Amino acid sequence: MGINKRMLGLGSKRSIIREIFEYSKVRGAEIGPERVFDFSLGNPSVPAPAELNATVRELLDSESSVALHGYTSAQGDAGVRGVIAESIKARFGVDMPRDLIYMTCGAAASLSISLSAIVEDGSDEVVVLAPFFTEYRVFVENAGAKLVISTPCEGTLQPDIADLEAKIGKNTVAIIVNSPNNPSGVVYTREKLDALCELLRKKSKEYGRAIYLIADEPYRELVYSGVEVPYLMNLYDDTVVCYSYSKSLSLPGERIGYIAVCPRASDASELYLAICGAGRSLGYVCAPSLFQRVIAKCQGLSVDVNVYRENRDILYNALTEYGFECVKPDGAFYLFVKSPSGDAYELYERAKRHELLIVPCDDFGVTGYVRIAYCVDKERVVNSLPAFKALGEEYRG
Ligand code: PLP
Repeated sequence: MGINKRMLGLGSKRSIIREIFEYSKVRGAEIGPERVFDFSLGNPSVPAPAELNATVRELLDSESSVALHGYTSAQGDAGVRGVIAESIKARFGVDMPRDLIYMTCGAAASLSISLSAIVEDGSDEVVVLAPFFTEYRVFVENAGAKLVISTPCEGTLQPDIADLEAKIGKNTVAIIVNSPNNPSGVVYTREKLDALCELLRKKSKEYGRAIYLIADEPYRELVYSGVEVPYLMNLYDDTVVCYSYSKSLSLPGERIGYIAVCPRASDASELYLAICGAGRSLGYVCAPSLFQRVIAKCQGLSVDVNVYRENRDILYNALTEYGFECVKPDGAFYLFVKSPSGDAYELYERAKRHELLIVPCDDFGVTGYVRIAYCVDKERVVNSLPAFKALGEEYRG
């Protein structure tokens, strides 16, 4: 058969999140959509800022469509990259040249390109911190490396530095750090990140080459209670930031983001050229032109995170009151809940009988947890509480 078997496998493998989403539509048709509480998808519920939509209209009305819809440079429009470089400098104090920025179709593309630019051969390993976004396995393996999972600290789900030390070896070429985290909502503390970066420096020295830190940051701006999200380039030179506007500006369907290579990284210019090469080989050239221009005019804008904060507070307070053990999320829009029986699928099935659709997370690198994506209308959150209460009572017998 003239078909790539690995790709066939990837295309055929069921995704639990998609499956739940499809079930939600069928069930909604049966009993009414308002009676199904779907918390499966990480699709932002807060609209993009009104100023952003106004910018799209203005651009469409004022610029020539040939320029607006035409190709930009493969790595993105130089003016747009200049604006982003300035914004990084202003916000984080990093002297970022625009020639180390590569415009992409969102964080998924940023990660795939960065991994392909770094991974050299089949013995290379990329470490991920559990719990982790399940697509990392696809991206890492597609780049030709082996995925190595570091388990987190029990209870807090912060990185466990001792475990990480054991997982980094002579074949480690990169580590992916995602904070605020999907699926836990945890924001890694400065203390943990300092220790992690110190360890990377020690290991890089030991092996005589850089271990790159890939910072996956689509949720950077979605934080509550003024919690700090340290900028990793300021903690570790060999950092590549994979950014996306999918969540911070609620633009997941527009596919726009960027890669920024730290100017102090070892071989920064060569790494950037390898990123250009990886983008070219994967077909990720010239990110959507219109939205490159839009985001250049919308730096500094963000969605109203209070909407997510309110949902978080309602759900976290209620679920802990009903007897569930939850990790209090400081960011993103996910609540990570421990299954009282220790079995994530059992909790998922029981919840489903109460019309609560939540995601069992064993594939995210830790067992026994479910993820509640609370990027939904407040009404759905409030209306779901009696079902969560009944579920809690069921467990308490
Ligand atoms: N990384 C994480 C942690 C995510 O949660 C997501 C999407 O949910 C992505 C990357 C991919 O984001 P994008 O839509 O920008 O490709």
